[in-house]
Amino acid sequence: MTEDIGDLSGDELRRALGWAAERAAEYLDGGVADYPVLPPVEPGEVRAALAASPPQEGEAMEAVFEDYRRVIEPNVTHWNHPGFLAYFSITGSGPGVAAETLAAALNVNAMLWRTGPAAVEVEELACDWVRQMIGLPEGFRGHINDTASSSTLVALAAARHELRGQPGADVRRRGMAGRGDLPPLVLYASDQAHSSVDKAAIVLGLGSDNVRRVASDDAFRMDPAALATAVAEDRAAGRLPMAVVATLGTTSTTSVDPVAEIADLCEREDLWLHVDAAYAGSAAVCPEYRQLFAGWERADSVVLNPHKWLFVPIDCSLLYVRDVDGLKSAFSLVPDYLTSEDEATNLMDLGFQLGRRFRGLKLWMVIRAFGVEGIRRRIRYHCDLARGLADRLEEHPDFELAAPVPFSTVCFRLKGDDEANRRLLAAVNADGRFLLSHTVLRGRYVLRVAVGNLRTREEHLDGLWRLLQRCAEEETS
Ligand code: PLP
Repeated sequence: MTEDIGDLSGDELRRALGWAAERAAEYLDGGVADYPVLPPVEPGEVRAALAASPPQEGEAMEAVFEDYRRVIEPNVTHWNHPGFLAYFSITGSGPGVAAETLAAALNVNAMLWRTGPAAVEVEELACDWVRQMIGLPEGFRGHINDTASSSTLVALAAARHELRGQPGADVRRRGMAGRGDLPPLVLYASDQAHSSVDKAAIVLGLGSDNVRRVASDDAFRMDPAALATAVAEDRAAGRLPMAVVATLGTTSTTSVDPVAEIADLCEREDLWLHVDAAYAGSAAVCPEYRQLFAGWERADSVVLNPHKWLFVPIDCSLLYVRDVDGLKSAFSLVPDYLTSEDEATNLMDLGFQLGRRFRGLKLWMVIRAFGVEGIRRRIRYHCDLARGLADRLEEHPDFELAAPVPFSTVCFRLKGDDEANRRLLAAVNADGRFLLSHTVLRGRYVLRVAVGNLRTREEHLDGLWRLLQRCAEEETS
């Protein structure tokens, strides 16, 4: 360091970035696959391997990198591993990694247009590119949040602000406590919807008891008749239905709610419709999957996470709203120190957070580097891999599919009890080459394989299939 009150010198930064670039490339270009997907580490071991107190004087970056190499890299769960097939497997792709580095160097806080003109406009442009790619109508305006949990919270806060059926309720100003004029507000989502809906109800003061979990059918899709009944019962009991969350690609099985029928009901009942397409929305880039999404163009808000299946490094969640002025009136609050005269979007007006990272850069760079056709090829390949595994499972006498496979996630079971399936999952994961996860469907323990990683190939699914059969034989013999 040239002086002890400043930053790394240019040369030192070059060396540090060179090391980081070399390490990242080594890791992604093969090194990651040499690790077990799940690190062999117990809670507390990572911390114990690092200094308990901070250094009084700065250390050479070489020493810091040495600890990264020795303690940190080997002890992450390797989400970029080709055998990572758990939860929703994702990829922090090369263009995204490069973009994150540049965004960190710029260190823009894009709260206002004037605090980051390029950051705001690239975010708006990239959101519009995705809108075009997935076929949402022009009226939808997108912006980026960290996660779908935040996007859904923001969308439902806008729904509560507009509060159809109770105009002028002005919850923003008057709050909800002790108001005789305001009935309990109710949210509707299927029994398969993500827990972020309940969390939003908790944060918004609706209360988790006021989330109706509507029954789903044999294919885990929300039953619109059950939804209509729930809404009618709440109205009859003096409660105020506020919004419906339809999920296109649920977390456990990736089932697809019948969003057109749900949109009909929302129109009839004057309810806000929020569509959670956090995972599966990316599949709408492929025209052949579009029919599964028919009706989402009638939503008030739609969430899609490019960090799930558009190969953008976490975090990146897009929220599209039909009425951006409504969103602004729910959230805009400009203190004296943040006023500006620009005729432009100020991202701080679109949600509860002020500071914003330059997330649009990685989305824009990934789309440019892969192209729309390139993204389609990758998504189709993942769906083909999943279909291939599903076919094998269906044909095998000891396995059964636990749900339809609309996209790239396969839910299955060993024909046997829950304990046998738990042991099967533990045996497969203990091998180290793959990581699968589980869920519970209609009370039964189920294994999940989610394909979404750019490094996963047919040979990996073949290897997994051999391992699954071997572990199943050991279980059944
Ligand atoms: N919605 C769905 C359908 C999901 O599957 C998930 C997470 O897997 C979420 C929302 C929450 O996503 P996030 O982690 O971005 O909040």
